[in-house]
Amino acid sequence: MSAEYPAMKLNGQTHIVVGGAGYIGSHVCKMIADHGGEPVTFDNFSSGHPHAVRWGPAIDVDLRNAQSLNEALSAYQDASSVIHLASSIEVGIGEKDPAGFYNNNVIGAFNLLEGMRKHGLDRFIFSSTCATYGETNKVPLTEDQNQNPFSVYGKTKLAIEHMIQSYHNAYGLKYITLRYFNASGADPSGEIGEEHDPETHLIPIAMQAAAGLRGKMKIFGTDYETPDGTCVRDYIHVNDIARAHILGLGKFDAGLTNLEVNIGTGNGYSNLEILKMVEEVTGLPLPYDATPRRPGDVTQLFADASKAKAELNFVPQYSDLEYIIRSAWNFHRSRWQL
Ligand code: UDP
Repeated sequence: MSAEYPAMKLNGQTHIVVGGAGYIGSHVCKMIADHGGEPVTFDNFSSGHPHAVRWGPAIDVDLRNAQSLNEALSAYQDASSVIHLASSIEVGIGEKDPAGFYNNNVIGAFNLLEGMRKHGLDRFIFSSTCATYGETNKVPLTEDQNQNPFSVYGKTKLAIEHMIQSYHNAYGLKYITLRYFNASGADPSGEIGEEHDPETHLIPIAMQAAAGLRGKMKIFGTDYETPDGTCVRDYIHVNDIARAHILGLGKFDAGLTNLEVNIGTGNGYSNLEILKMVEEVTGLPLPYDATPRRPGDVTQLFADASKAKAELNFVPQYSDLEYIIRSAWNFHRSRWQL
């Protein structure tokens, strides 16, 4: 797969990447550095990894602590943008612990926006999610349709979207809200990839099961109204997501003030189709049990990707399903020393 980037230079600019030690954040940092910029990671390392911060400094800071956040921001008030990817993300955990999710995600984002306002930082890229749309029969999902999130996770992300819009209207915050679909795959270098603990996502769990690192995997729900009864998702390679951020930074330079946009491929794959591709790529059998639905899951989510193309010139380059699975497998195989 080609690694063609748009001719975009960040020439020595500093970008604060909140959550830069995480899965998507580390790929964003790498891509900022590849374009000549300096990523500064803000992270509390609750789920991110120090070894994933390789392209710039790391500041250990928790968004829930406004005072230490403000101290960290005051050292970087000349930054060109703030990119916010730090949040609690596990759908199932959010259903059991909404207080923790609202505190970490919503209060954390509020403290960040307030800190930015105090320090004159006015360009913001926010990681939102297709989970803000909720259960809908209208796929592919366009940005202008009703957002009625089903999960606590989606609700916290939508609350933040609204907060950002209010800051734009009242205080002139310039923002791009990227509604990611299912982040997947790993950088071809093999040096960074998906490392959640506990892991809850379909592709890495399937790889753990194929590699014999866990027992049979579970497929949550086989009675959905989809062709094979399992949920359908839109898997987008993490480096395509990272590219969307770089394109967004260029749009700020060109005068863009506010945007909500889907970052997906437009293709939906069922959970069973994913399992089949994992078996094909790994060459290993993948036993699974069909189990009841997971609370918070919706039937099918896939993007209408036309706005991203029109507004950001974004066309996925890495998101062929086989390439996604192969790049993820290369990363996990070397990490697990298989
Ligand atoms: N899933 C599953 N078994 C697992 C993990 C996930 O069947 O062990 C399903 C999950 O119910 C959903 C799909 O895989 O239908 C994608 O879930 P994931 O957590 O990877 O991403 P989400 O779409 O929730 O962001």
